[in-house]
Amino acid sequence: MKTKREKIVEQISLMDDIRSLSKINIVTCGHCGSIVLHKTEVEEIDCPYCNRTLDVCDCPDYLYDNIENNQEFDEPLSKSEYEKLNTLLRELELKKLMETGYHRISGGFAVSSYEVLDDDRISIELKYGVQSDVDSFVTTQMYNLDRKKFQLIQ
Ligand SMILES: [Zn+2]
Repeated sequence: MKTKREKIVEQISLMDDIRSLSKINIVTCGHCGSIVLHKTEVEEIDCPYCNRTLDVCDCPDYLYDNIENNQEFDEPLSKSEYEKLNTLLRELELKKLMETGYHRISGGFAVSSYEVLDDDRISIELKYGVQSDVDSFVTTQMYNLDRKKFQLIQ
């Protein structure tokens, strides 16, 4: 199955074909954001929606260069990635509790959360400390995880 990124790259390639065969480009109006067609040789674009005349360079291509690198085309976590990640997070938490001795202290805790940065990296935040009537302190530690190798990067 194709990834979202592969699919958008295909769209960009089809757009390139349209442009070179028809000499017509599809852009986004730099003023109102509407989709506007124009002949590739023109310098200015007359937007029928907002009725403005704009320089071609102020109207980005509908499928602009590098759009495939946008976060929306990152792959969501697969089920197995998700399970592996959860195991890793529980291990990190447990290791930290043992290291600090907080597992023996009332109100001691270690909790982690993650954020998928892109296809290659996952950011992990580990918060640990003690929260009780007597004590209240938290330390935050950040990790980066190589998503492909599934290894923590220092
Ligand atoms: Zn417009």
